[in-house]
Amino acid sequence: MNLQNDIENLFSTQKDEWPKLEEAIRNLEDVKIKQFNWGDNISVKVQFNPSRITSTGANIDKHHIEERPCFLCEQNRPAEQKGITFLDKYIILCNPFPILSNHITIPLFSHVPQRIRHKIGEMLSLSEKLPDYIVFYNGPKSGASAPDHFHLQAGLKTPELTQGDNELRSCFIIEGSTISESVELFEEVYQFLRSLQPDEEEPMLNVITFVEDNNYKIHIFPRKAHRPKQYFDEGSKKMLVSPGALDMAGLFITVREEDFNKIEKQDIEDIYFQVSLPIM
Ligand SMILES: [Zn+2]
Repeated sequence: MNLQNDIENLFSTQKDEWPKLEEAIRNLEDVKIKQFNWGDNISVKVQFNPSRITSTGANIDKHHIEERPCFLCEQNRPAEQKGITFLDKYIILCNPFPILSNHITIPLFSHVPQRIRHKIGEMLSLSEKLPDYIVFYNGPKSGASAPDHFHLQAGLKTPELTQGDNELRSCFIIEGSTISESVELFEEVYQFLRSLQPDEEEPMLNVITFVEDNNYKIHIFPRKAHRPKQYFDEGSKKMLVSPGALDMAGLFITVREEDFNKIEKQDIEDIYFQVSLPIM
């Protein structure tokens, strides 16, 4: 079984059966992008993607989450949405609001909270099966719009998504030659971050994993805030950005055209400064 081929096939059949997905993928091909560089090695792309408004504007307040039907539970998913089972407990689904090419969402069958600590090995197993992809995780207070239902996401690799640490924001880089070695190293970083935020159910973080040169790579972006002040500002200062793993790596998502047009290098530096947790 080649999972990457199975996913390609899933996308082609789902695009035929599910017009909304087909349209969303077509829209992604024409999406507006601008790029900022810091020296030769650091770059951030900004994508204008209005379909992400539901996720960017998501209310993750506990009461609201408890009241709404969970969109990752099978009984509430769109009737057209079909998937591929992974490890007998996850389902790989085409994301109908894509940011990346071949953007997939991988929820557990069961409705359990978003916590990465004991799932990092499974995340790496998925990366192992998907060498052309990055797999990513948004913590419950760090970009996940379903903090109550464990899920991973993935999409095709691009250079800005595999950038490691740089001067704009913090990133722990773990590299191991086996999954178990990488999981052990992850646990050390996890415990360190937990000591910095002992009151959180999970230290605030985003994670990206991928396989490169036969090694398992984990990029951990520690966070100190869910959303920057611009998110809550009114009028011309407002910018609706709600960073998750992709934004932290180097792909900013803007959902309003005015924000896409006005965002500049110094805004990106300022947003990273507000949401990234310094670790040195
Ligand atoms: Zn659920």
